[in-house]
Amino acid sequence: MSLPPLHPALRATDPELAELILAEEQLQATTLRLIPSENYVSAAVLEASGTVLQNKYSEGYAGRRYYEGQQNIDQVERLAVSRAKDLFGVEHANVQPYSGSPANLAVYLAFAEPGDTVMGMALPMGGHLTHGWGVSATGRWFRGVQYGVRQDTGLIDFDEVRELALKERPKIIFCGGTALPRTIDFAAFADIARESGAVLVADIAHIAGLIAGGAHPSPAPHADVISTTTHKTLRGPRGAMLMSREEHAKAIDKAVFPGLQGGPHNQTTAAIAVALREAAQPSFRSYAHAVVANARALADELLARGFDLVSGGTDNHLILMDLTPKDVPGKIAAKALDRAGIVVNYNTVPYDPRKPFDPSGIRIGTPSLTSRGLGTDQMAAVADWIDRGVTAAGAGDEDALAAIRSEVAELMAAHPAPGLTG
Ligand SMILES: *Cc1c(COP(=O)(O)O)cnc(C)c1O
Repeated sequence: MSLPPLHPALRATDPELAELILAEEQLQATTLRLIPSENYVSAAVLEASGTVLQNKYSEGYAGRRYYEGQQNIDQVERLAVSRAKDLFGVEHANVQPYSGSPANLAVYLAFAEPGDTVMGMALPMGGHLTHGWGVSATGRWFRGVQYGVRQDTGLIDFDEVRELALKERPKIIFCGGTALPRTIDFAAFADIARESGAVLVADIAHIAGLIAGGAHPSPAPHADVISTTTHKTLRGPRGAMLMSREEHAKAIDKAVFPGLQGGPHNQTTAAIAVALREAAQPSFRSYAHAVVANARALADELLARGFDLVSGGTDNHLILMDLTPKDVPGKIAAKALDRAGIVVNYNTVPYDPRKPFDPSGIRIGTPSLTSRGLGTDQMAAVADWIDRGVTAAGAGDEDALAAIRSEVAELMAAHPAPGLTG
C-alpha cells in the first residue's frame, strides 16, 4: 500500500487487530454490498462514535443522572432526542437502547407481563425474532401468536390479522419486519390494534431512513410506539431509539433504564445525533428516494432475467428472491455471490419448504450501493452480475465468479464509499 498507515495508535498497540480492520475497510470498499440492513455511515458519524464520550457513565436521563460530570453529555443526549422528535414528528424519543433487540425487549417490559399474549409477524414470513418468535426470549417469556403473508400474493392479509387479534387479544401487536419488500399499512394495523385493545408497535428498523426521507409513509400518526435501529437505512451508528406519544414516555423511559439497561453508550448517542442531523438535510431526502428508485429498477431487471421475487417486486429498499425456479439453494447462491464480490444473505421465503439454515431465497437491498452514488442506470449491470453469479453457483464455475469479482471491483473503485479512508 502506498497510502500512509491508518489508525496509527491502534497499529502501534495491536497490529494484528489493526490489520483486520484495514482488511475489512478494503473488503467494504471493493465489494458490492447488497445486504438490506447494512449501509455506509459518513465520516462524521464514524468520528463521533470513536470519541472520549466513551469514557463517561451517565445512568439516568438528561437532568436526572446518577453520576456527576454530565455538563456535556446531557447536551449531547438532548440534541439527539430533539433531532429525533423533529425528524420523525413524535412527542417523545428515547435514544438509549443499545440496539434494536433490546429496544424491543424494553417495549415488552413497558407494556406486558411475562406470559401475556403478544402478536407479530412470523420470522419465516419476514418478521423479526423479537416479535415473539419461539427461539427468542420474547417468544419464551411471552405467548407469541404470529401472522404471515398470503401464499398467492406475498402480501399481509389484514382479515387474517384482525381475526387473530380479536381471537387472541394480544397486549402488544408488532408490525414491520426484516424481509418485507412492500409498504407497511400502519393505519390498517392501528385499526386492528384499537379494535382488539393492543398497543401497536411499529418496528421501522429497516425503513427508518426511508420514512425520514419521505420515501415511505410514517407510522407517527398511527402507532403507539415506534421502535427503530439507527444503523440500517437511517445510516447512523449501531444503536436504536424508541419513540411515542407523551402518554407512553414514562413507561418507555423506565423500561429502558432502569428496567433493562445501565449506562447509555454516549459515543453512540452522539453519533445518532449526527446521523439525525444528516437525515434532516435535503440531500438525505434525495438519498431515500434514490434507494427506492434503485430497488425498483433492480427488481425490474431481475424480473426480466426470470427471477421470482416475493410479492412480485418491491416498494422499498429490499428485494426477496425465491431461487427455486433457478434450481439453486439460497445458501449456495449467497456463498457463490460472496466469492464474486457481491455480498447478500440467504433467507427463507414465505412458505419455504426448505430449512431456515438452508432456505430457498436470498435477500438483497439498495441502501449501501445508493450511499456510494450508484443510480438506476447501473441496476442492469447489478442484475446481470447476480444472474451470472447464480448461474455460476449452479454450475460450480469459479472462473465466472472471479470474472464478476473483478468487474465489481472496477465499478466500486469508481464509486468510493462514504466514511472509508482506504
Ligand atoms: C434489525 C432489526 C431488529 C434488531 O436490531 P439489532 O440491532 O440487530 O438488535 C429489530 N427489528 C427489526 C424489524 C429489524 O429489522
